[in-house]
Amino acid sequence: MPSAAKPCPFCAIVRGEGHAEVVFEDDATVAFLDKAPLMHGHVLLIPKVHVGTIWEADEATASALALASRRLALAVKTAMGSDGAFVAQNNVVSQSVPHLHVHVIPRRQGDGFFSPRIIWRRVKYRDAAQATGIAAKIRAALETA
Ligand code: AMP
Repeated sequence: MPSAAKPCPFCAIVRGEGHAEVVFEDDATVAFLDKAPLMHGHVLLIPKVHVGTIWEADEATASALALASRRLALAVKTAMGSDGAFVAQNNVVSQSVPHLHVHVIPRRQGDGFFSPRIIWRRVKYRDAAQATGIAAKIRAALETA
């Protein structure tokens, strides 16, 4: 659980504290751009309630995440003009933020994401304006997703 000594960065985003490019919010979930994306348009979807892993989420929370990730996958694909989307989460192993989060990442044919020699390189946004522009495109695509 988050504590005063080690506050949860994603709970802070739920509270509207700190900077996040929020692209989606409903009663149970929030989605925002990953600050160190694997591809431009990489989104993180989180439950508003602090749970660490998918098996700690109650059914309502898990359902809300599944429904929102379905919409986000389509919106990210549409907004980024990609061929597909990768939707996944780390639970404990390779999980660097202990607040459940679903990665939604645009995929392109031949992008080598799952090649045997894959190196999971992070990319950067050129500047804050580029990230804001991409977030706006994803928000617009969500209107019809
Ligand atoms: P994982 O390694 O699967 O736990 O993924 C955690 C993700 O959270 C990483 O891709 C980080 O770049 C991302 N991340 C961590 N802190 C923030 C933040 N404050 N805002 C946006 N993304 C974040």
